[in-house]
Amino acid sequence: MSSNPKVWLSSPHMGSAEFEFVKEAFDTNWIAPLGPHVNGFEADLVAYTGTKEAAALSSGTAGLHLGLIELGVVAGDEVICQSFTFSASANPIAYQGAIPIFVDSEADTWNMSPYWLEKAIEARMAIGKKPKAIIPVHLYGMPAKMDEIMAIARKYDIPVLEDAAEALGSTYQGKACGTFGAIGILSFNGNKIITTSGGGALISDDENYVKQARFLATQARDNAPHYEHSHIGYNYRMSNICAGIGRGQMMVLKERIEQRRANFDFYVKALSHLPGIMFLQEPTGSFSNRWLTTILVVPSKSAGITREKIRLALEAANIESRPLWKPMHLQPVFAQAPFYGDGTSERLFEQGLCLPSGSNLTMTDLERVVELIRTLFH
Ligand SMILES: *Cc1c(COP(=O)(O)O)cnc(C)c1O
Repeated sequence: MSSNPKVWLSSPHMGSAEFEFVKEAFDTNWIAPLGPHVNGFEADLVAYTGTKEAAALSSGTAGLHLGLIELGVVAGDEVICQSFTFSASANPIAYQGAIPIFVDSEADTWNMSPYWLEKAIEARMAIGKKPKAIIPVHLYGMPAKMDEIMAIARKYDIPVLEDAAEALGSTYQGKACGTFGAIGILSFNGNKIITTSGGGALISDDENYVKQARFLATQARDNAPHYEHSHIGYNYRMSNICAGIGRGQMMVLKERIEQRRANFDFYVKALSHLPGIMFLQEPTGSFSNRWLTTILVVPSKSAGITREKIRLALEAANIESRPLWKPMHLQPVFAQAPFYGDGTSERLFEQGLCLPSGSNLTMTDLERVVELIRTLFH
């Protein structure tokens, strides 16, 4: 046995019921897409988030794609998107042949800046291009400033497609992330707070959006004995097997959130006294699932120690960490897209690091991470 086994950033963490649900699917031969576990998982999501309806899908990306289609985004349209995010928030805009308009973050939550959102809307409208949708993201589980974002969206009458892929279990003013916009999406990818091995959901208080998502996600088959189609369809539905895993994972979600929040508290206690290391605090009224614990390393205060120096030292010790998301307006693939901001997300990318944050990390794993970082500062 190696003395330094791999410590992962965020790896799947199964409970005890997942396998029973999957076994039930095998025993009843519900291997095909759809089936009772899909219905059960959707009901679990509705009960947990307080949304009216949920459609279980093959991925969160599929949810964003269907959401844009349902909001009427077509080729040549413009869609406003948080720049500081994973590429999956923005790629579906390109799937539709639409143009992403990237907006910077603000320093309190690292999410979409209401100030830059409004600046972007006004600038686009001034040239006759009213954006068709707004995509804010609750990055790393931290709720975006939804009151302000929704007020601006209402003022200009632009629908919000809320990317809550990283924020299942997070709340803003007591309400679940993903339930503020016209449509919200969740992800159950392998590295998220719970996983179905791959999957997502589209949620909404408007049941028509959810019904239409189920229809489009199953090849848009019209009601007829033969295969009749009046819309372009997609193969985006979740399978009964994956949904079985999801049902088991929903039973342990509360514990997973507690564990991830305990990771955050552990890191704060162990590292916040080091010069130049900063943690993202929860604003009043926000509750983060703390999907990933993130730090900023400010070189002017840390005697020249950078996030890259820490990342490489961890890597050499077989510990996985990762820079924060590289903003979309800095990505070669989106080089042509307009951007409105002041450099906040760029600074976060330069200074930020995601620490190992899985709910299955042991105290030994966590001690190894903080010991190593502490020695760099001596
Ligand atoms: C993971 C993620 C997605 C995409 O979800 P998938 O299920 O992997 O397709 C979208 N947005 C953000 C912010 C994510 O982290």
